[in-house]
Amino acid sequence: MDRSSNHPAYELLAAYSAGSLPLSQALCVSAHLEHCHSCTRQLQRLNRVGSELMQQLKPAKASNDLKNRLLDSLDSLTDEAPAEQPKRFDPSIPRCLHQFVDQGYAELPWKRVSTDIHSVELCRDNNGAKVELLKIRPGGSATTHTHLGDEYTVILEGSFSDESGLYKQGDFVVKDARDRHTPVATQDRECICLAVTEGPIQFTGFFSRLLNPLIRRGYA
Ligand SMILES: [Zn+2]
Repeated sequence: MDRSSNHPAYELLAAYSAGSLPLSQALCVSAHLEHCHSCTRQLQRLNRVGSELMQQLKPAKASNDLKNRLLDSLDSLTDEAPAEQPKRFDPSIPRCLHQFVDQGYAELPWKRVSTDIHSVELCRDNNGAKVELLKIRPGGSATTHTHLGDEYTVILEGSFSDESGLYKQGDFVVKDARDRHTPVATQDRECICLAVTEGPIQFTGFFSRLLNPLIRRGYA
């Protein structure tokens, strides 16, 4: 398999394994992993290496204060919480998104961005990155744009193409400030993507002077 495209870079997977990725990027990697056996196997290898490295570390001596605080925390866990009925989730939604999407994509408060695109913001990362879902109607197109920061996209349903090729369910796409692209959903069905943008996108088309100040305001 060509690991250079449509998968997270090795460095990104290694950072995910080490737990050092920002939440927004970790969500994208998690959503991709649910569709990709190749990256899941790669991650298992990285986790094994990480745990072997941990075992080689010499244990540090814990202070009495730390021991006492740990024992206090254990004491506070003894009260058994009532068992909660497990929620039923739509199996087509990645598990990492269940905290944001519990009733299905159709129930979300979608906002109209254009005739072709609706979006719903899920959260903001501590680094300011916006985490949102984008829904493009069949055959619909996003306005041509570049980025002032990196843009991470995972295709959750349907597919879209741009100047670099066709992206299908599960594909992981990274674009940066050098990339100018025009995503177009395929005609067969609507396309739903998880999108993380680390800075405002910059429209380059006819309406750019009108749209760019509005988009930048969304990051203020
Ligand atoms: Zn992959």
